[in-house]
Amino acid sequence: MDSNTPLAACTNAWSPPVADRLAAGATDSSVPVRVVFLGGLGEIGRNCMAIEQGAADDPDRTVVLIDCGLMFPDANMHGIDLILPDFTYLRENANRIQALVLTHGHEDHVGAIQYLLRDHDGIGDLRDDPLPIYGAALTLGLARNRIEEAGLLPKTDMRKVADGASVEIGPLLVEFIPVTHSVPHAHAIAVHTAQGVVLHSGDYKIDLTPVDHRRTDLARIGQLAKSPGIRLLMADSTNAEEAGYSPSETSVGTVLQGLFASQRDRRIVTASFASHLHRIQQIATAAIAEGRFIATLGLSMKKNVKLGRELKVLDIPESSLIDIDDIDKYEPGKVCIISTGSQGEPMSALGLMARGENKWLKLGEHDTVVLSSHAIPGNEGNVNAVIDGLLRMGAEVVHSGVLDVHATGHAQADEIKTYLSIVNPEWYVPIHGEYRHMVANARLGELMGVPHDRVILCEDGDVLELTKKELRPVGRVPSGYLYVDGIVGDVGQGVLRDRQKLAEEGVVVVVVTVDIQTGKVLVGPEIITRGWVYAPEAEDLLDEACDAVADAVESALGKGVRDVEALERDVRRAAGKFVSERTKRRPMIVPVVMEA
Ligand SMILES: [Zn+2]
Ligand SMILES: [Zn+2]
Repeated sequence: MDSNTPLAACTNAWSPPVADRLAAGATDSSVPVRVVFLGGLGEIGRNCMAIEQGAADDPDRTVVLIDCGLMFPDANMHGIDLILPDFTYLRENANRIQALVLTHGHEDHVGAIQYLLRDHDGIGDLRDDPLPIYGAALTLGLARNRIEEAGLLPKTDMRKVADGASVEIGPLLVEFIPVTHSVPHAHAIAVHTAQGVVLHSGDYKIDLTPVDHRRTDLARIGQLAKSPGIRLLMADSTNAEEAGYSPSETSVGTVLQGLFASQRDRRIVTASFASHLHRIQQIATAAIAEGRFIATLGLSMKKNVKLGRELKVLDIPESSLIDIDDIDKYEPGKVCIISTGSQGEPMSALGLMARGENKWLKLGEHDTVVLSSHAIPGNEGNVNAVIDGLLRMGAEVVHSGVLDVHATGHAQADEIKTYLSIVNPEWYVPIHGEYRHMVANARLGELMGVPHDRVILCEDGDVLELTKKELRPVGRVPSGYLYVDGIVGDVGQGVLRDRQKLAEEGVVVVVVTVDIQTGKVLVGPEIITRGWVYAPEAEDLLDEACDAVADAVESALGKGVRDVEALERDVRRAAGKFVSERTKRRPMIVPVVMEA
């Protein structure tokens, strides 16, 4: 973090009234608490929820957001860069939002903040004050980059919190409980409300031997569970279908050390998530132990390694770091390059290497590439293409399919059961996962003794209300996908459908010029196509299509049709019919009727 813009002081103490209230276990049972799910339920990505206290029609009710993340598009969403939560509900409540609380620094939890803070489609223009954002130092550091790039830092007020800290946000007390995950400084969030404790697990696993020895604070969670008890648990479902326990992150370090020891004379290039600083630490440790120097490659890797070292999350001595520009001055066996691109992103450092287009590194038979990661669903194709490309360059490739060079950051079924046995919640709502993951997680809840009618499966847009008596669905809010298309802005479903059709079926443009006065075709019809048939080899077919369209236009003109739009409809119908009958395809048909 840049030293001339310090974060607000960390708040570790509860103010006396709230602390007293908490000590007394006092709650105000007449004030309802609601949870509004804005993203992340039914998908991996765009995690965002609001916790509200106060009657739904109370203008002074408190709204606290937990996370505001993005989702990466799947292969069918042509030209779409990002998907965000729908901000309609947040815009309606812009001035009631007292704070944004962050569980950890992954993009699916912090990547949409800069869009939330924007004017017009976010809440920026509607708020009177900067939005307080609470999170761990590293979480804020990772979130900060994009907000800063967008020039929106003045619209925020970042407040760093320490492990175990509690902050008072309006009438709520929000507690940050350490958890282990695939990024350091991750937290579960316990919200002490008028209806008791609501616990958000954050993304977590129960790693008993984490790299930084900072374990999931099961003792604190157990304390809350004993007294005052946890009324509602919302917990990570990502790996609920996977049996057993996830391996510890340190087990990956052992594998890496063995791998590095076996590759003494070879250059090693590793790729992992740039935010996975513990993985990066373990790669660095294994490399330094074998006398290698380390260079980072890729902008986000460079930035995060710098941030990690500043925050003392990473321990890599300056003397072990070299600049990527100097890489060719070293013997292959003396260097390790830590790169971005573990998801096969075509323009990432590794993606360029796989095509022989990376400015700094040309790979060959002296190189071993270690993909210390796992493809996120949707990215498998890209990752496979990168592996193929690297192999064609002559490099050796080690990935999680051949050696245990990766461990997940999300709890598997037995960890979830352990967690549930400690939390023992009154109500259970699975979050963070595709629907199947949430169903699996719901079953674990029942297995661990939460009664069937107290396990509630929700989806994006659902609103739950917690009262003294019960937790029940009370309505829905808009929660559709908000698409971001590069810097151009947001595009709607219609544009996306068009692109999909264009990509899958191509386009046929039919141009015809008519004399409206005389009712005669002057020029054309002419057909231009891309992606339907290859025009130079399909001249006869195109001629026939022109004839079919000409017949339709002449017949319409003969019946006295003179309206251009009506003629265009006829052209579209005739061309569409011909194309589908003759080729069984449905390209986009664009009719253009010009008047002369
Ligand atoms: Zn995460
Ligand atoms: Zn996540």
